[in-house]
Amino acid sequence: MNFEDIQAVKELLSTPQKIVIVPHKNPDGDAIGSALALWHYLNNLGQNASIIVPNDYPKFLKWMPGNEHIFNYERENVQAKGRISEATIIFTLDFNHLGRVGQMRAVLEESDAAYIMIDHHQDPSDYAHYSYSDASMSSTCEMVYNFIEYLGDIDTITPEIANCLYVGIMTDTGSFKFASTTSRTHRIIAHLIDKGAENTTIHHKIYDTNTPNRLHLLGCALKNMVILQEYKTAYITLSQEELDTYGFQKGDTEGFVNYGLTLEGIIFAAIFIENKEEGIIKISFRSVGDFSVNQFARKYFQGGGHDNASGGKSERSMAETTAYFESLLQDYKVILAV
Ligand code: 5GP
Ligand code: MN
Repeated sequence: MNFEDIQAVKELLSTPQKIVIVPHKNPDGDAIGSALALWHYLNNLGQNASIIVPNDYPKFLKWMPGNEHIFNYERENVQAKGRISEATIIFTLDFNHLGRVGQMRAVLEESDAAYIMIDHHQDPSDYAHYSYSDASMSSTCEMVYNFIEYLGDIDTITPEIANCLYVGIMTDTGSFKFASTTSRTHRIIAHLIDKGAENTTIHHKIYDTNTPNRLHLLGCALKNMVILQEYKTAYITLSQEELDTYGFQKGDTEGFVNYGLTLEGIIFAAIFIENKEEGIIKISFRSVGDFSVNQFARKYFQGGGHDNASGGKSERSMAETTAYFESLLQDYKVILAV
């Protein structure tokens, strides 16, 4: 964020505003963590802020301080719409294209509030009046930490803010192991622990949340894994029927895609998950090294994300989708087979 934008945002926040904070659809730890951290920060400044999520999110994210104040656009549609129409500032967090909020898009486009984007994905669109966009950042939570620092308020970080920011940095860095993790990320984490982030408890609350059903679903996913050694690729499929068999709950498939990358020699992993209700196959892509799954998802599966973690969708059947996916690998043989 440049100096002029910081001054302008500071000026805006020096008077009472009606603020709405919006993370992306199917929010993850970084989206909910950054939204709640910013919400605590703004309310502590005396602002009137609320968070509106486009839809529901997994139970393992619902313990964070302030969670009970989050509005769900699908469930609390009237209040959510009312708040958006009255908003003077709208923060959008952890996404950079209004298509990422699903049904909420039209209402957001009607608003004449000042838009402030804080996000770490590539190729931002230009809907925001003030943008803090940096694809080199580990997480939106790391950026919210920087944002608070830019505004000169680093000493106002409370234990609530520290815990929420810790969640997003931890989940988006795969517990501090992805290439986006820098020495500064670790220094910020150290500071957050000093400020009251309960690191061990957070790891436990996010990751030790298995149910017997989820472990059985994981077993099914691993059994379904297709390994294409010559393309250094592994992919998993889960049909709606399989999800139903194991009583699928939102968030149950989180992290499954990463198992492909734990195989020696595999640099590209995907998971295809059928969603009969939406009539789509939801896809997650992961890679290690130079192969950009962001470009791959963008080009072939109406999606996007980061160089090493992205997602997309397909409207074809599962069999057609995986056949198409395998056919695409031929084109990437030069990169994937080196
Ligand atoms: P995940 O596979 O964990 O759902 O998402 C990995 C990354 O890809 C996240 O940064 C997420 O924002 C992005 N992503 C996932 N699905 C989509 C999609 O359908 N469209 C776009 N543009 N990004 C996506
Ligand atoms: Mn993120």
